[in-house]
Amino acid sequence: MNIGIFGGTFDPIHLGHLALARAARGACGLGKIYFVPASAPPHKTQPTASYFDRFAMVTLATAGEKAFVPSLLEAPAFSEKPGKNSQPNYSIDTVQKLKISTLKKSDKLFFLIGIDAFNDISKWHKAEELFGECEFIVASRPRYSLADVARALPESLRPEDHVTKPFATQPAKGSLVLRGATIHLLENVHSPISATHIRGVVIGKKPLKRFLAPQVEEYVKKMGLYGSV
Ligand code: ATP
Repeated sequence: MNIGIFGGTFDPIHLGHLALARAARGACGLGKIYFVPASAPPHKTQPTASYFDRFAMVTLATAGEKAFVPSLLEAPAFSEKPGKNSQPNYSIDTVQKLKISTLKKSDKLFFLIGIDAFNDISKWHKAEELFGECEFIVASRPRYSLADVARALPESLRPEDHVTKPFATQPAKGSLVLRGATIHLLENVHSPISATHIRGVVIGKKPLKRFLAPQVEEYVKKMGLYGSV
């Protein structure tokens, strides 16, 4: 089976995340997608909502879709306080954990990611190894070219400049198959929604319907998250 893994802070999970997952499922025939909220994201400032609230929101947002599965793979250890003192969650460790704990040998793993996060991928812990473990599905934006995607790769996987130059005018779509990395690009999936914006909207008490699944909106209000009380 083709399986997706989609990690994020999900602070909160929003309609942009769900659109990416649906598009990836359609494009690569994914039978299952694991949504993995990070307890301690290594590349970002620490989340506003607790791990438990973020996991609850992921569960609510994915409840209506059989193929979307909330995952505890990056849950804080029982002995550990989530937040500042937690060990960072590295994707390479999570992917390997998923393979060992859940996947079959015949399963093929795809790593779902937005182009904004993909741009920093070369700085990730053991990035090359991660490309060896799974194929990537990247939600691109209109102004990105295939050359931009290739240039974001870790140095050892990056094609030389003279190879990528002709692709500078080609929009980031289709699939890029290189030695050591396969990247499938989803065109025009990246919506202008961001969790940062939503947290601002909640604090400003404006309607959330455009951004959040109804159950998530309800949860945010019920629990008084992001200053909604
Ligand atoms: P924040 O605003 O707090 O940085 P975010 O909205 O970018 O959060 P994350 O949880 O950090 O959400 O993102 C998880 C993954 O989803 C990342 O790979 C990111 O690129 C992708 N993503 C985030 N927003 C969108 C969107 N609107 N459309 C497509 N992909 C997105």
